[in-house]
Amino acid sequence: MSSLTSELLKVERKSRSVRTRRLRWVDRVLFDEYGTPRLGNYRDPIREIFFILLSAKTTDRQYRASHRALFAAFPDIASIASASVAAVERCIHSGGLSGKRSAQIIAVAKALIAVPEPGARAFLKRAEPAESYPFLLSLPGIGPKSAFCVMMYSMRADVFPVDVNVQRIAERMGLIAPKLKHYTAQSTLASIAPDGCSRTLHVGMVAHGRKICLPVDPKCGQCVLRSECRYGKKRSPGLAQS
Ligand code: SF4
Repeated sequence: MSSLTSELLKVERKSRSVRTRRLRWVDRVLFDEYGTPRLGNYRDPIREIFFILLSAKTTDRQYRASHRALFAAFPDIASIASASVAAVERCIHSGGLSGKRSAQIIAVAKALIAVPEPGARAFLKRAEPAESYPFLLSLPGIGPKSAFCVMMYSMRADVFPVDVNVQRIAERMGLIAPKLKHYTAQSTLASIAPDGCSRTLHVGMVAHGRKICLPVDPKCGQCVLRSECRYGKKRSPGLAQS
């Protein structure tokens, strides 16, 4: 159940709200448009943790390249944990990533290899969300959104991560207030996200944010959500009826 997101964040659930019905509609419309696009994420929770860490504040193409380079040079967690900051930085700098991120990657690898036998991978594959969520949050650089991404992509948990695309579309549609701090946006959307469709809704909104609802100059004229979008109607009066 997606109420899981609100449970884990300890926010009050408002599943009967009008905004929940609107999000269900968004899910259906975007599913018809994009299906369930694969965004390069991993079923293996360990690979996914590093993929998510590398994805912050960089482009899709860059973080995929950084992740490939990292695992080509260091094929397992133990080798990342014993690497030097400079060696990790050489792998990921093409993604515009800094020494700070390299140190974080090494610290995460050290925390993962410190998990007792049968190890972090086995723990994460078997753990209940109430166990895996605090464990993931304890890793350096992993906040609620990143933890939810790992749980959603690798553990099939019905949790709803809010990234910049999800926040921007929800804001423009009038589902959340403008310019919220990221954690507040995540909590607000957790309180209204419909059950059972977290993954399709998330990947649909990410795909839509990358292709149509761009940060600057969104393509409202081509948008399947425009009939329900406050920003789109204001920006192009009459467009919603077209
Ligand atoms: S109508 Fe425009 S602003 Fe609204 S969701 Fe579509 S592209 Fe984004």
